[in-house]
Amino acid sequence: LMADSLFIINNYAREYFTDTLFNKEEGQNVGLSYFEERGFTEETIKKFQLGYCLNTFDAFAKSALDKGYNLEYLQKTGLVTIRNEQPADNYRGRVIFPIHNQSGKILGFGARILVKSDRAPKYINSPENEIYIKSRVLYGTYFARHAIDKLDECLLVEGYTDVISLHQAGVENVVASSGTSLTQDQLRLIKKYTKNLTILYDGDSAGVKAALRGLDMAIEEGLNVKLVLLPDKEDPDSYVQKIGAEAFREFIKENKQDFVLFKLHLSMQEVGTDSNKKSQLVNEIAETISKIDKAEDFTRQQDYIRQCSQLLHIDEQGLIQLVNKFIR
Ligand code: ATP
Ligand code: MN
Ligand code: MN
Ligand code: MN
Repeated sequence: LMADSLFIINNYAREYFTDTLFNKEEGQNVGLSYFEERGFTEETIKKFQLGYCLNTFDAFAKSALDKGYNLEYLQKTGLVTIRNEQPADNYRGRVIFPIHNQSGKILGFGARILVKSDRAPKYINSPENEIYIKSRVLYGTYFARHAIDKLDECLLVEGYTDVISLHQAGVENVVASSGTSLTQDQLRLIKKYTKNLTILYDGDSAGVKAALRGLDMAIEEGLNVKLVLLPDKEDPDSYVQKIGAEAFREFIKENKQDFVLFKLHLSMQEVGTDSNKKSQLVNEIAETISKIDKAEDFTRQQDYIRQCSQLLHIDEQGLIQLVNKFIR
């Protein structure tokens, strides 16, 4: 089967890249020292099966073809590409982050450049294929699922290194959206384990805007969404490495805020005293609140109505009526 072949090739590549990282001179000098400089321990590197792809034209491609793997399938995984009519390594000179499914099989890879460049993207990710459907995958699910279940909360971050650093700091209930907006399928995946989602995004406004876009969808899925804003210029990886595990956990606890109320505060600042804009905002908030499933979570909806009407200085009964207009 096609899917089986792709899993087998990805697993071979994972072994090849981890072997390179630990046992080849270039792997150690370039790849391993990069990870060490980023503060990743050997235990962490092994747990996440991180690797390195040699900076050669085709060392991996040759080895895989020698093994008898099919060129067309190798191209499908994105590991091998055709350059000057020759099979070539796509991730050469990059460190490798395998992306696991919920049972630990490898769906694809993220490959990070070591030195910032204008000519090449920071990350190259595997293309979509029969096994890697990006809208259904969250990085780290395999490592996080037990902790999410146990703590009844899922933390959501942007990047691979955020997941890895937080694990190393003992925060294990964390998955990454890999820099894209959340999809319905990803929210459903989270909901298999918990209803409580806490978004931990970069402090920059791009991060927050990406998070806001997912809010109504998350609420429609019945999730209870919280937000932690990180200080400017920090992401969870940089911040936990900077302040340490204990202080980071304390920071999350202290700075967790309700996402619906956060959105309302943000919008109120934009609206100011403009009454047209204000009534538009009231409508938007009513629609958001209407999406909280009443049958499932009646008290939560009532709490929001009370808090939002107070914040907006509007009549609670009026807001209830508006909310009900959106419920069909
Ligand atoms: P690092 O700490 O190594 O710089 P990061 O995770 O902080 O990585 P961000 O720039 O914050 O990197 O991006 C978040 C995530 O978005 C990445 O982990 C990766 O999954 C994805 N990403 C970033 N840049 C690219 C790119 N050029 N192409 C594809 N995906 C990308
Ligand atoms: Mn960012
Ligand atoms: Mn980042
Ligand atoms: Mn980062």
